Amino acid sequence: MEALKTKNNMVQITLPDGAVRAYDSGVTGMDIAESISKSLAKAVIAIEIDGELSDLSLPIEKDASISLIKREDDKALEMIRHDCAHVMAEAVQTLFPGTQVTIGPAIENGFYYDFARNEPFSTEDFDAIEKQMRKIVERNSKFVREVWPREKAIQFFRDKGEMYKAELIEDLPTSEDIKIYRQGEGDDGWLDLCRGPHMPTTKHVGTAFKLMKVAGAYWRGDSNNAMLTRIYGTAWRDQKELDTYLTQLEEAEARDHRKLGREMGLFHIQEEAQGSVFWHPKGHIIFNQMEAYVRRRLQDDGYNEVRTPQLMHSKFWKASGHWQKYRQDMFIVPDVVPNNNEEGPVYDQEPKEFMALKPMNCPAHVQIFNQGTKSYRDLPIRLSEFGCCHRNEAHGALHGLMRLRQFVQDDAHIFCTEDQILSESIKFFTLVQAMYKDLGFDDYKITFETRPEMRIGSDALWDKAETALENALKEMKIPYQVCEGDGAFYGPKVGFIIRDAIGREWGCGTLQLDFNLPERLDANYIAPDGSKQRPVMLHRAALGALERFIGIMIESYAGKLPLWLMPVQCVVATITGEVDDYAEEVCAQLKAAGIRAELDIRNEKINYKVREHSLAKVPALFVVGAREAEEKTVAIRRLGSDGQSVESLEKAIESLALEAKPPY
Ligand SMILES: [Zn+2]
Ligand SMILES: [Zn+2]
Repeated sequence: MEALKTKNNMVQITLPDGAVRAYDSGVTGMDIAESISKSLAKAVIAIEIDGELSDLSLPIEKDASISLIKREDDKALEMIRHDCAHVMAEAVQTLFPGTQVTIGPAIENGFYYDFARNEPFSTEDFDAIEKQMRKIVERNSKFVREVWPREKAIQFFRDKGEMYKAELIEDLPTSEDIKIYRQGEGDDGWLDLCRGPHMPTTKHVGTAFKLMKVAGAYWRGDSNNAMLTRIYGTAWRDQKELDTYLTQLEEAEARDHRKLGREMGLFHIQEEAQGSVFWHPKGHIIFNQMEAYVRRRLQDDGYNEVRTPQLMHSKFWKASGHWQKYRQDMFIVPDVVPNNNEEGPVYDQEPKEFMALKPMNCPAHVQIFNQGTKSYRDLPIRLSEFGCCHRNEAHGALHGLMRLRQFVQDDAHIFCTEDQILSESIKFFTLVQAMYKDLGFDDYKITFETRPEMRIGSDALWDKAETALENALKEMKIPYQVCEGDGAFYGPKVGFIIRDAIGREWGCGTLQLDFNLPERLDANYIAPDGSKQRPVMLHRAALGALERFIGIMIESYAGKLPLWLMPVQCVVATITGEVDDYAEEVCAQLKAAGIRAELDIRNEKINYKVREHSLAKVPALFVVGAREAEEKTVAIRRLGSDGQSVESLEKAIESLALEAKPPY
């Protein structure tokens, strides 16, 4: 009898190592931690109950699998940031009475909180707010979770003049409990509406936080609503992490490709052509060099380059399925002759026919494949295109060269049999690896994205495709990360993610298997037995959008690109006007050796010239004065080094020409 009673009041708790312990029903995460060890109880900040992050104080009333989260765990970061947002909100309301709080989530690397106040906050308020935050952290107040009746919560916030909070609660589904988190003692404790969970006390926030910037933000993101002040902050587990992050941020700013692109005179983007690039002569040299490099690589790897139309009829996009799925991302153009009367309407009649700028090249490549009969002996067929694509990205999403509305992909499609998927995948992975090495990227990771819930094609086909792709990865002996269910609806996917010099990640290369498009666009080949078969289509890009890859290169190399890519590889600069003739001769010889050289015979001080070319990131400066002209030498200054070395003209040109050779 006693045993049974005990059993009914117990819960079975499964620990991460598989051990099962029995506890009294209502046991909390903190109780469990204390039962294991004192040191664990000190380190722990939250509990995961059946995969859901919860407060340590939450009573557990049924059997569960748990894991205890310590402050040093990665999962703690988001909680530290969320709690820090609460601490900041209290600090702001203490210092600036009358300020209303709205919402304040944790975000990547930090948190923000939106405040309503007649006078917006500025960075000048940061010192005082941070100081107050440190006081609240030091105060070591418990975060106490309370569940309130809905009406009480609405009334409470209204009485306090917190209209935004009252509105938030009114909009919560009636089925949802109104949870309030209090930080501080009794009724005086500062409190906020919040789903939680929170760490045990404000002290757990620690001191590794910093307020970063202010921005205007409309209430609920709607421009018809009131403008709030958003204060952004960053928060980390310790000072070292914070310092690393701040340094990385500084580095990223110094390397920003938009800033460097301006300083180096490479490109610009202007209001009237948002999301499209004006490449200047210097930038276009980089673009051409990259394209030529990729072209050489592809030619040697058995690709055939094609070029397909920019504008195609809606019928075509309907057949490919883009019209139905991507229409809002496409630029659609009416197929009507415009009215030539400047004052009149643009079109005399309502357009009935529509064209669209291509958002991708795939369906056009199928058209080329479909010309004439293909036999299994013709496969694989690899069609490549530096395809200029247009996608109607939202203005807010555009970012320098990184996210554009018009861009050029190093795109290609491989049409092959199912049996060729493995060998073609290995071939492509080998190519990508070689190209990334050429371009100086040794650190990248690979994702393998498998069948999503919503998909087409039989399970047998998916099995075959996934196995082939995964086998290719295994054969390459490169580690990869499986992302279950992340594949495209038409086939599994492999992604190449480059980690740059300051640790940021960029998705670049991709290989996607597609059983869908050949079906939709009726591509086929004649099999050995004379039957008509569908080819498999492999979509693949090694670098992705060239513009974006150039942006990544500029940032990763901090503008000091490998010599073969630099628009101006060498500047010949004179110390005195008396050696102009010799300088011209040096420049001519450099050009004859295939080096992109420029002459600087301006009547300026040499230090001025050096500074200017250094800012423009000119990799090599040949300085010539009377002595160099006399001895047929040059004084070489390399970007990023203070010293200079004098060498014979012949030798200097020879070694520079060697270095300027593209990697392939
Ligand atoms: Zn919260
Ligand atoms: Zn494609």
